[in-house]
Amino acid sequence: MERTLSIIKPDGVRRALVGEVIKRFEQAGIRIAAMKMLHLSREQAKAFYAVHRERPFYDSLTEFMSSGPIVVMVLEADGAIQKNRDLMGATNFKDAAPGTIRHDFATDIEQNVVHGSDAPATALTEIAFFFSALEMV
Ligand code: UDP
Ligand code: MG
Repeated sequence: MERTLSIIKPDGVRRALVGEVIKRFEQAGIRIAAMKMLHLSREQAKAFYAVHRERPFYDSLTEFMSSGPIVVMVLEADGAIQKNRDLMGATNFKDAAPGTIRHDFATDIEQNVVHGSDAPATALTEIAFFFSALEMV
């Protein structure tokens, strides 16, 4: 069993897409091992996305990610990282395949509803950013 981090971003929470996103995970056979809602500070958003700190979209992205509550989850499945990325769709919703979360709901390359870890090493560090071992069931 593999674990990955999922975030329903502030646009997804504001637009009442939490249930829709979780339904897609459950229907894909993904188990939710941990979940909570929180509101990142700007500093916390900058720390989470530190890998992108040299990118031109870093300031805007971290402002957006700290603009309202998010839902963070640990997803568990065989191949959870890729399964979640497949359900999410491409970063830019204009390139995302029909039936993916970003194709169906994203409105903008930045405001794209969901985050998902992209590799085993990032999954480990991103899960540890939000959850302790005791919080995973
Ligand atoms: N992003 C953006 N402009 C870009 C590329 C990315 O605003 O040109 C935002 C978008 O919200 C994306 C996040 O930065 O989800 C992280 O980018 P990454 O390339 O890691 O995409 P992801 O892994 O989320 O598909
Ligand atoms: Mg990424």
